[in-house]
Amino acid sequence: MRKSELKKLKQILLDMRQSIVMGDKTSSIDDESLESSEMPDESDKACTEASQKIAIRIMDRDRNLLRKVEKALDKFEDGSFGMCERCEEEISVQRLKVRPVTTLCIDCKEDEEKLEKVYQKDVIEEQ
Ligand SMILES: [Zn+2]
Repeated sequence: MRKSELKKLKQILLDMRQSIVMGDKTSSIDDESLESSEMPDESDKACTEASQKIAIRIMDRDRNLLRKVEKALDKFEDGSFGMCERCEEEISVQRLKVRPVTTLCIDCKEDEEKLEKVYQKDVIEEQ
């Protein structure tokens, strides 16, 4: 991979990290507005609980993504960024541009997805 491409991908990851951190701030503001809302009746309450569950799930997903972004950034330090963790082949630049946090090449990822379907595992979708 060319150095200019690596630099670009690192910038994408840094931007991703930034937006996740900013996103956390936004969701805590939303929580405050939920608490200050007027006395809800039963159906509203159920509604609020559901939306809080969604908010928690989004935060979990963000945390998960943040961990992946941090891990990818670490790989720049030891020079292993862009290398498949399974077969140690280079991951294509096109794939990395779409999913810079990926740790598998397309072949290994497809293998893994096939296995996931077989075992019906509940896997958090890679971003
Ligand atoms: Zn691979």
